[in-house]
Amino acid sequence: MPEVRSKKSEVGISNSFAINFAFMAYRKLSADKIFDGYKLIENGVLVITKEGMIEDIVALESAGENIEVFEGILSPGFVNCHCHLELSHMKAIIPEKTGLVDFVFKVVTERDHSEEEILKAIKRAEEEMISNGIVAIGDICNNSLTVSQKSKQNLHYYNFIEASGWLPAVAELRIERAKNLLEEFSTINDQCSIVPHAPYSVSENLWKGIQPYFENRVVSIHNQETAFEDEFFLKGRGDFIRMYEMMKIDNSHHQPTNKSSLRSCFDKLLKAKNALLVHNTFTKQEDIDYIKQLQAANYKPQIFFCLCVNANKYIEDVLPPIELFRKNSCTIVLGTDSLASNWSLSILDEIKTIRKNFPKIPLSELLQWATSNGAKALEMDNHLGSFEKGKKPGIVLIDEENFSAKRFF
Ligand SMILES: [Zn+2]
Repeated sequence: MPEVRSKKSEVGISNSFAINFAFMAYRKLSADKIFDGYKLIENGVLVITKEGMIEDIVALESAGENIEVFEGILSPGFVNCHCHLELSHMKAIIPEKTGLVDFVFKVVTERDHSEEEILKAIKRAEEEMISNGIVAIGDICNNSLTVSQKSKQNLHYYNFIEASGWLPAVAELRIERAKNLLEEFSTINDQCSIVPHAPYSVSENLWKGIQPYFENRVVSIHNQETAFEDEFFLKGRGDFIRMYEMMKIDNSHHQPTNKSSLRSCFDKLLKAKNALLVHNTFTKQEDIDYIKQLQAANYKPQIFFCLCVNANKYIEDVLPPIELFRKNSCTIVLGTDSLASNWSLSILDEIKTIRKNFPKIPLSELLQWATSNGAKALEMDNHLGSFEKGKKPGIVLIDEENFSAKRFF
């Protein structure tokens, strides 16, 4: 039986709980199950303030009267650890299953949209995420078009200012651009950082310029999204050569490292506080072993493996080796990626796909990836991700039958 904290729990609620709470402005919510950010609880009642701040979870028999009862699972709001809000206008533009190289080429060459259209799409996408129960987002930023929407503070954002540039000669310009964007996004809050796009798109010069900005920040990097990424670093061959030819970018400076892409660049993230590896579709046991070795040698960043399964299916029609990450006790979080490579911005839709393909993974574990793990990854766990006293994590009711979500707060 899952544990339910009694009324004599750590917060010291007295026997006159029901009376006390009746006088104070609390609401008492009950449902078939409560997911507290870590585990599923039956016969519990979630006590919150009128503003949605968590007071406690108590046993049903101790909760007194005026309990609001719902069908489904009450859960903290979801954390979407990887999105590109600025690409929301590209929904259904790039065909499915083109493979990453043609996908990236289309994203960087697609220009036929007015600013007004882009801003409208950003607003719509944010509304979609709110209605899907998402409360916080790790969002990749290559321009400042999302600043005005994010300034409305409808959702919590960690803004990752993305630096890319494979030509060593453009490094200085790209560093300058990233610094300017960082300044602009800092006007929203201080949860922003400069991050590398991917191992195959950041030159050594650019790495050197952005590394000082990782210090004590959360950083993210697209990792091993296609099999060609490792091939590019191991042997200097494969589809990325074709991509740079298509883009007319000189690749002659590239020296294969004889190591996977992850092992070629991972030590550059050394100074970060948290590192989010995004996609990991072709990550192997050797890569995880390498990370474990670094961690054993006091490598500082906490590592989060961010899965974006619907985008993987959209672009490459493959799924990441989820059982490998579980077997190795890796910390997993979830992301939607952008509407350029996904039909929805819904963490529940990501969970649905994982459940369909990996039916043995317990629901409580999937929900933990979507809530408390995500909040930790984005350093928002002091107020989001779980039903713990004093937090205001947003409250979502999950309909277990059709697996949809309704947001309370
Ligand atoms: Zn992405």
